[in-house]
Formats: sequence, structure tokens, C-alpha cells
Amino acid sequence: MATWRDLARQIGALTKLAERDVRLLVLELDDFAERRVALKDVMPMLVDTYGQAAATVAAEWYDEMALEHARGGRSFSAIAAELPANTGADVLVDWAATEARTPASMLELALGGMQRRIANMSRATVIGSAASDPRSDGWMRVGDGDNCPFCDMLISRGAVYAKDTVRFGAHDHCNCQAAPSFGSPADIFDVDKYKRSQRRRDDETRSKDNERARQWIEENLSAEPTA
Ligand SMILES: [Zn+2]
Repeated sequence: MATWRDLARQIGALTKLAERDVRLLVLELDDFAERRVALKDVMPMLVDTYGQAAATVAAEWYDEMALEHARGGRSFSAIAAELPANTGADVLVDWAATEARTPASMLELALGGMQRRIANMSRATVIGSAASDPRSDGWMRVGDGDNCPFCDMLISRGAVYAKDTVRFGAHDHCNCQAAPSFGSPADIFDVDKYKRSQRRRDDETRSKDNERARQWIEENLSAEPTA
């Protein structure tokens, strides 16, 4: 049975591959200007290649999900999103070069933007397909909330976005994905379960924090006063 995690995993793997390509390329270019030139040279191509792959993967995944969860059989096939005429990869590298102080931070900034552009192709595929699919009533944001409180908040709301909502707000390194809803959203993403596991994680974090605080107090404050 396909789950939303399969898509997240596959898109994560694709962006890792793209990242590895970039890192290999700039490995020996320590010089800021040289690195910038190399990134400008290769990043648009990588965003295209891996972005297209992400769209294909997402379309296949969509069809699998629909087969399992949608009523109405194979009346529709997912449509892989088309690459925008300009993915902005060029501008991304310029921006990273302007923001960064070191070749290393330029690379990290550029990689973040590249990840977002590739992952967006998957999101656009799912959102666009859900919009045209007569079996679907919209789409949801799904993820494990590991990225940031903002995503966690959005996922927790469990909203099903209407078909005409096409904007998926995402930041760099955001692993959230879009999933179609076929009338019973909980079949695909169980928000209550998500909230329970988040709560459990919060509790665990809190108890670890408490433990750390206790230890610190023991080590730093419990010594007998010498005076
Ligand atoms: Zn996210």
C-alpha cells in the first residue's frame, strides 16, 4: 500500500542525488568566484533534470494512491507538472553569492533553494492533478513536521485545500509534500495520529530538557558554598 511517506522519501532521495552532484562539482573550487561560476553553470540543468524526475515520480505515486483510495477507478491519470520556462536557478545562485560571506555558505544557500525548486515540482504535480481529477476534492499538506513550527502548524490543521488553491508555501529544506484528498482525507493522512505523535515528541523533548537542566544544576550549582 502506498503512503504519503513513499513520496516524501523518493523526493528526498532525488534532492540528495542532486545535492551530491553539486557538492562533487564544487569540491575543489575553494575560490568564491570560481565556485559561483560553476554553480551558475550547473544548477539550472540540475533543477531541470531532477525537477522533471520529481514530477514523474509524483505522478506515478498519485496514480497509485488514487487506485487505492479514490472511487471511480482509472478515470484519470495524473499529469506531471511542466517545468516553468525559468526555474530561477540562475537568480538563486546570484542571490546566494550576494548573501554569503564564504564559499561554504554560498553553497549551502544555493543547495537550499535547489531543494525547494525540485520538491516544488512534486507538489505542483500533485496539486495540479488533484485539481483536474474528478475523483478528488482537493489536496492536503502532509509531512512529519520535522522541519519547522510553521509547517507543523499547517499540517496539524489538517485542512483540505480547495482545488483552485494552487499555492504551496514552502521554505528551503522543507520536506512537506502535497497529497490528494479523495473524500476521506484521513485514509491518506491521519491528522489526529499526527497530532498525538507530535504531542508525544513534545513531551519527550520537554523531559529531556528537564533532565539536562537538572544535570546542569547538579554540576554547577550544588557545590557547597566555600565561604
Ligand atoms: Zn514543510
